[in-house]
Amino acid sequence: MFCRNCGREIGEGNTVCTGCGAPAGSGYKFCPRCGHPTDELAVYCTNCGAPLTNIQGQNAAGGRPAGQKSRLAAGLLGIFLGGLGIHNFYLGYNEKGICQIVLFVLCCGIVSSIWGFVEGILILCGHIDTDAFGQPLTD
Ligand SMILES: [Zn+2]
Ligand SMILES: [Zn+2]
Repeated sequence: MFCRNCGREIGEGNTVCTGCGAPAGSGYKFCPRCGHPTDELAVYCTNCGAPLTNIQGQNAAGGRPAGQKSRLAAGLLGIFLGGLGIHNFYLGYNEKGICQIVLFVLCCGIVSSIWGFVEGILILCGHIDTDAFGQPLTD
């Protein structure tokens, strides 16, 4: 594989790049499969199509959580616990989740539970397709 930080080749089994000292797989400047320069925000290599994990880019974007969220989990959370906005916290829509908790308290849970239930359905049907960070949900 190639160092994602400096683009030099890293021998199999090496956990650290001998060229720049970065841990293998960290960085966002080069493709780990072909060594082609990649954009910081790219999710796949435009040269070979390899998927890119953006370790440093995620940190720079303010602790963006790694890994994709499950559509099923988010939908079920919305249907069963939507009144408390749990599905919105799960997806990173914290402001919306807080709104639902406030509504839950003000309206004895009726309005926000319907809201959360509808959102749960929308998530399961694919009408809500990304989390708050723009990452697509997995099926
Ligand atoms: Zn390196
Ligand atoms: Zn590549």
